[in-house]
Amino acid sequence: MIIDLNHYNKIVFFTGAGMSAESGVPTYRGSGGIWHKYNWKEYACQVAFDKDPQQVLDFHELRRKSVLECETHKGHHFITELQKIYNDVTIVTQNIDGMHQRAGTKNVIELHGSLWRLRCDDCGFAIDDIGESFTKKKCDCGKYLRPDIIWFEDMLNTKVIQQASERIQECDLFISIGTSGVVWPAAGFPQEAKSNGAYCIEMNTESTELSYLFDEVIICRASEIGKYFID
Ligand code: ZN
Repeated sequence: MIIDLNHYNKIVFFTGAGMSAESGVPTYRGSGGIWHKYNWKEYACQVAFDKDPQQVLDFHELRRKSVLECETHKGHHFITELQKIYNDVTIVTQNIDGMHQRAGTKNVIELHGSLWRLRCDDCGFAIDDIGESFTKKKCDCGKYLRPDIIWFEDMLNTKVIQQASERIQECDLFISIGTSGVVWPAAGFPQEAKSNGAYCIEMNTESTELSYLFDEVIICRASEIGKYFID
């Protein structure tokens, strides 16, 4: 099945861990994931940060280092190229690794924040992209800079969810890549797209609990997605 992109005006790519896994980015959940090696209660929640910010920041430094060792793949680049042809292509991602942006993709909505952003909850200072050699731990106001990530037990960022939700409701083509979609609010997105009339495609290495919602299910690797479209 080949999808002709000329039939659509607003495209949303919804990506999850499977998009990055093929680049070699370690996954968090699932077997062999980071949460099997590290207890999130010590490394990825506000309580841990308040108790031992240095340890939490060192952990995130390690995460960034391991992301930097990875390369973007053909799937990332396909989306970037598509954005040069179509002006309404949005990426909604569950990933915090910034791999889409590294491939030159724009218009990326990060549901769970980013390893590359830091913020100070005390004075409101924020850094959008800390770059590769960032080592500063503290804000000028003296507080530790916190990774701008949705940690365990954090509330989701309602503004970001709202933004994603709006794009998904408006789109006429919704393509889910590398996500099993079981974690809320992501689990609701395919349904949201579908009930607003979008054509929905799932691309994953295996079928998922949500496959039945999609108009089309394509079993493929994230790097191969470009093969299924013509523009
Ligand atoms: Zn500050």
